[in-house]
Amino acid sequence: MKIGVLSLQGGVIEHLNHLEAIGHEAVEIKKASDLVNIDGIIIPGGESTTIGKLLFDTGLFNPLKEKIQEGMPAWGTCAGMILLSNKIEDCDYNYLGCIDITVKRNAYGRQLDSFETEASIPKVSDCKIPLVFIRAPYITALGEGVENLCEVDGKIVAAKKDNILVTAFHPELTKNLDFHKYFTSLIIKKNKIN
Ligand code: GLN
Repeated sequence: MKIGVLSLQGGVIEHLNHLEAIGHEAVEIKKASDLVNIDGIIIPGGESTTIGKLLFDTGLFNPLKEKIQEGMPAWGTCAGMILLSNKIEDCDYNYLGCIDITVKRNAYGRQLDSFETEASIPKVSDCKIPLVFIRAPYITALGEGVENLCEVDGKIVAAKKDNILVTAFHPELTKNLDFHKYFTSLIIKKNKIN
């Protein structure tokens, strides 16, 4: 299986390494032609405004949005979650708008700029998963049919609907591989159905 990691800005290499560690081919996506023949894509953390601008500058925006809307599995971590969301609080535009959630950027404010915790996420793993948050957003509203996968202190920090997974935290910055395994299991399931 070949999985792309959007490689315009942000935490690309860590996702590539995690995917390779669980035995999948991982490729960098920098332009529209790179989207051919990938089974899924990870949109990494970084700066959503920068990645969003680069999506337009590189001509990736429309082909990527189309592929995700056609059902290609996509996982957004942190800034990636913001880019996939339908609505960003206090903002009159969105980016890819592929999952019906509302997100709040930099939601933890300055004092909690970065923090680590852990959580049980039974859908993803039998063991507790370490969670790393960096200037993280959280989800303030879930649309119909969007599954709440994880809450931390009453805030939704991971969700899924159909082919789209979003996490406010960064599994790629821990040694834990469970989220990458979970995402690739969703792709395997989809490929079996089609
Ligand atoms: N605060 C960043 C943004 O709004 C996201 C931070 C991250 O991806 N670690 O884009």
